[in-house]
Amino acid sequence: MSMDFEPVIGLEIHVQLNCETKMFCSCPNRPGDDPNRNTCPICLWMPGNLPLFSREALEKATLACLALHCEIQKESAFDQKVYYYPDLPKGYQLSQFHKPLARNGWLEIIGENGAPNRIRIQKIHMEEDVARLVHEYEGRHPVSLVDFNRAGVPLVEIVTEPDLRSPSDAMEFLRLLRMQLRYSGSSDCSMEQGTMRVDANVSIRPRGTDVFHTKVEVKNMNSIRNVGDAIAYEISRQADCVKAGEPVVLHTRLWDPDKRVTSPMRAKFEGPCVPDPSVPLIVIEDEWLETMKSRLPEMPAHREERFVNAYGLSRDEAVLMSSDRELSEYFDSVVRFDVSPRLAAQWISAQLLPLFKEHDENPADSPVTPERLAGLLAMIEREEINANSAREVLKKLRDGRSSAQQIVDECGYRQVSESAELDALVDRVLEENPSAVENFHKGAAKAMGFLMGRAMQASGGKANPRLLKEIMTKKLG
Ligand code: ADP
Ligand code: MG
Ligand code: ZN
Repeated sequence: MSMDFEPVIGLEIHVQLNCETKMFCSCPNRPGDDPNRNTCPICLWMPGNLPLFSREALEKATLACLALHCEIQKESAFDQKVYYYPDLPKGYQLSQFHKPLARNGWLEIIGENGAPNRIRIQKIHMEEDVARLVHEYEGRHPVSLVDFNRAGVPLVEIVTEPDLRSPSDAMEFLRLLRMQLRYSGSSDCSMEQGTMRVDANVSIRPRGTDVFHTKVEVKNMNSIRNVGDAIAYEISRQADCVKAGEPVVLHTRLWDPDKRVTSPMRAKFEGPCVPDPSVPLIVIEDEWLETMKSRLPEMPAHREERFVNAYGLSRDEAVLMSSDRELSEYFDSVVRFDVSPRLAAQWISAQLLPLFKEHDENPADSPVTPERLAGLLAMIEREEINANSAREVLKKLRDGRSSAQQIVDECGYRQVSESAELDALVDRVLEENPSAVENFHKGAAKAMGFLMGRAMQASGGKANPRLLKEIMTKKLG
């Protein structure tokens, strides 16, 4: 008899804030620099030095919380999370436990079943990162090195309620979370770079019941896809346990990206947490909070609606154009030059996106500025060039100097829309290809495509395709 289980999933997500400095000192927030360059007595945790809380960290953390619809708490405070480990020689980590910065947030995903599903965020708190351990060999001797560049780097930890019910919903939640946070400007949220780190809490229960069973915590995934795979693995592992009559025990497991399995790491560890006396209570004033709210840009869901309602984009086009803040600002700027929004969206998704990717550039830094792209699109709309030539012009627009108009003039791309000229051209093509004409009259529709191709070729690729087809159809009778 097979039992049907329902997974219960909650996520804890650490996000590195992209501040200039660390959280409690003025060292640069660049953990990737040469080891131990970005350090000072405060972040080396020397005795006798007091932390000085960074205003920028509070601002970025608040923006992140607002982007996730959280209630910012009037008062929040730091605690000392006590444990000793070589990556934490101070003996405690400054983290908010009793009084987190924010509570009661949410994100609404479109679930696996196609319906909207609101995932609650329990709380978001600030904390400092710990040092990084590097394990190496000196000859045959293993050595462990400590890099303090990361010690004191500003983080927020986002804790969801156990509201997720499938690996794919967890992945969708993370994609949405990443988009919201990137929009807020507080982090680049790269799991590959380690600026977003996800712990997945997973338990299972017989479908139809609503108690929570013992969970297992899984760490060490370096992509959203791996989070999904690790959760799926963990669900089936727990189901096997239960079917074999073994209890699921609370512990922490590591995802192995090569073997694609989780393996036990340690018993779950929670050190004591005591209020920290060195960082003052953080008191948020209404006026300051209003300033923070006004610093959030128009968020993706709103942008998506506007692109559908005001610009007439299809839902898919609107989703794509609003998925990334820089891209959507680029798109908006192109449209402001009075070109058709749908034409702009189609060109940006089919032509510009691959180009940005190929040259590894931000839309904002591309030599194909919104104004220059708009110039090209306007010529397409006025039927001054056809799509083929336009793609050639786009390549040349990357030189960063000439406008689309200049390129078209210089390279002779201007579309032939003179009826007389096209008339003569079609006559010639029909005369030169009598068998195709005959086939067409016998009912072979393909022959039309062949003749069109010949005529386009004869025009050097510059014929106005719409006119050409009109004339061709008329002449073929
Ligand atoms: P802990 O204090 O052990 O870390 P919390 O109650 O703070 O546990 O929850 C941590 C994370 O685990 C949260 O994201 C929460 O949603 C999730 N979680 C709690 N209980 C369960 C459960 N039974 N199954 C799956 N996830 C759970
Ligand atoms: Mg926890
Ligand atoms: Zn420092």
